[in-house]
Amino acid sequence: MGTEQRVTFCRICEAHCGMVATVQDGAVTKLRPDREHPLSSGYACPKGIAMLDVQNDPDRVTRPLRRRPDGSGLEPVSWPEAMADIGARLRAVRERHGGEAIGWYMGNPGAFSYSHPLWVKGFLDALGSRHYYTASSQDVANRFAASALLYGCPALLPIPDLQRTDFLLMVGANPLVSHGSVLTAPRVKDQLHAIVDRGGRVVVVDPRRSETARAFEHVAVRPDTDAWLLLSLLHVIFDEGLEDWGAMVHQAEGYGWLREAAAAHPPEATQERTGVPAPVARALARDLAAAPSAAVYGRTGSCLGRFGTLVAFLLDALNVVTGNLDAPGGWVFGRPAIALDEVAEQAGLATYGRWRSRVGSFPDVLGAAPASLMSDEIETGGPGSLRALFVSAGNPVMSVPDGEALEAAFGELDLLVSLDLYVNETNRHADYVLPATTFLEREDLPIAFLGLYTTPFVQWTEPVVEPRGEARDEWEVIDELGGALGISVLPTPQLRALGRRLGRLVTPRRLVDVLLRTGPEGDWFGLRRGRLSLRRLRGEPHGVVVSEEIATGVLRRKVRHESGKVRLDPPQIRAELHRLASSNGDDPDFPLRLIGLRELRSHNSWMHNAPLLMRGGRTHAARVSPADAERHGLVDGATARIVSPSGAVEVEVRVTDEMTEGTVALPHGWGHRGGWRVANAAGGVNSNVLASASAGDLEPLAGMAFLNGIPIRLEPVGPRAGAEQASAEPAPA
Ligand code: SF4
Repeated sequence: MGTEQRVTFCRICEAHCGMVATVQDGAVTKLRPDREHPLSSGYACPKGIAMLDVQNDPDRVTRPLRRRPDGSGLEPVSWPEAMADIGARLRAVRERHGGEAIGWYMGNPGAFSYSHPLWVKGFLDALGSRHYYTASSQDVANRFAASALLYGCPALLPIPDLQRTDFLLMVGANPLVSHGSVLTAPRVKDQLHAIVDRGGRVVVVDPRRSETARAFEHVAVRPDTDAWLLLSLLHVIFDEGLEDWGAMVHQAEGYGWLREAAAAHPPEATQERTGVPAPVARALARDLAAAPSAAVYGRTGSCLGRFGTLVAFLLDALNVVTGNLDAPGGWVFGRPAIALDEVAEQAGLATYGRWRSRVGSFPDVLGAAPASLMSDEIETGGPGSLRALFVSAGNPVMSVPDGEALEAAFGELDLLVSLDLYVNETNRHADYVLPATTFLEREDLPIAFLGLYTTPFVQWTEPVVEPRGEARDEWEVIDELGGALGISVLPTPQLRALGRRLGRLVTPRRLVDVLLRTGPEGDWFGLRRGRLSLRRLRGEPHGVVVSEEIATGVLRRKVRHESGKVRLDPPQIRAELHRLASSNGDDPDFPLRLIGLRELRSHNSWMHNAPLLMRGGRTHAARVSPADAERHGLVDGATARIVSPSGAVEVEVRVTDEMTEGTVALPHGWGHRGGWRVANAAGGVNSNVLASASAGDLEPLAGMAFLNGIPIRLEPVGPRAGAEQASAEPAPA
């Protein structure tokens, strides 16, 4: 076999940058950005390039592993043996406890596969199980919940129209590092600079002077106070008559209540809490309202606090009252080649609050329950308790609060099976670890992200190489599990009925082709020649720009409420405002606030084994402001103990003026102790030890963990080793 160049796209983050893989003798030897990709046009970040390290990692799991009989560790096993035993044990669980005792946790990378989530959901629905957990309850579920309340559909996700906006207000978003979240905008940095270049503004509200805040305008805010600030912005807009009355009346209902609610929160009343001086908030509100077009966008920094759904709701409300919803340059609905919101709705998958969790009574969000409750769901006996758990592309011990409790609870399961690339901190406890494919080894189409592209776009990729070793696609494994249980695992009841007749003829590939061809841009099986089909996409490997611009004026078709209008006064949000009003102030024992932080060369917990990303002796460190460092006797490089009401960690301190006083930032996803040697050697701590997994501490409307704004205190532990040595030397005479 010779050397070939194969076009594909990255599926680590939402930008989906185009990539070209050099393949030699069946193995990927190089990854480079695709210069011919219409949107990313030759850009890829270090993580995309470093996927080569993951692909060829000697620590990667490439054969099925099973727990040794004495429990001492994992040993290789054949696929048939593994699947036979897993099938038998699943049947036993089902017979004894019912299908509802079988659950699944799917991590963030699962959402980047077009087949994996659909087959997981089909598997659980066919079993009648509600134990569906995803990483969403650590980073995005309240965005879905807010959409359900505002628009009547949790899968309907507006995005900022970056191509045309004059004013972008971002709350808790750092796209220069994240490359976009609930937003697919390759070369997002260029898109943001283009706003300024054409005379517009980009304003970043964040407790940290993040990479994005540094590049544009920064408004520093205290962690977990976004709701107060947004209410104050609404107050100014209503109070000064700056609302777009016509647009608001035409598009929304309940604005009278919203105006009343905002009236109680003038910036002068919230400035002490938010840290944003009233004149700054007033100017921001006026500028936002006066901009010819504007979009208000918030991401993880804004949604991991105690009032995340309320904050997501208020962000959209600001877009509505300023007349920017569904308007060019505003807060718009994407133009996907496959309208996932409609497909999900028709399939009965676009649910919010259709049922409530057994523990804590939280509403389901797109059919998922809060992942923070998994340990309680295992340990709380009775009908429906979780007895068998699958974990795919995930590491909840590292990503949910109180991973130690989850580790302990695993011991009570009848079966724990993982599908993954590595032995990680979670699946090292598993009965089986099954080798999964990387994105370079599987076909794909970014179905979950098509509606989030700022330039409507679609791309298909074939696998770049055959799976390494014995790795298999998740959907195939799930299909086989379904066979072992005698159930069809196809994603909807209609398809399951069809699947029972047609067997394995219904594949993800065939399904996506039908969805493409019958979608808004589809060829309708030849009726609209030249339009989209899988065949056409296969012939255009760099992807197809569906339209240069996002369509606006579509709101009536998108909103599912009977009135056809956006709802600005849902009872759940009213209740949240009461909860906000009665929320506690600061606890003197925990005077500081802890926030998360994304790093360019990390991706949650799964890329710390890539040597290319760990070069230069990277360490895990908490960012502390100079004033807080001095107050606590800390110097750069010293070790501090961070103590929260839920736990404590000891970690290196990096003193930096990017932090506002009173706020400490600590990246998540460090502190490894799995089968990945580079990651283990990198050290660090699991920051989620500091978060609470108690049901009473989860956000009530989406069940999301409180991960941003955690009350903490800092305690010095000692100077770094080098400093100790230096200070131990005799002082000069
Ligand atoms: S920005 Fe995201 S999609 Fe692009 S190369 Fe980096 S990780 Fe991959």
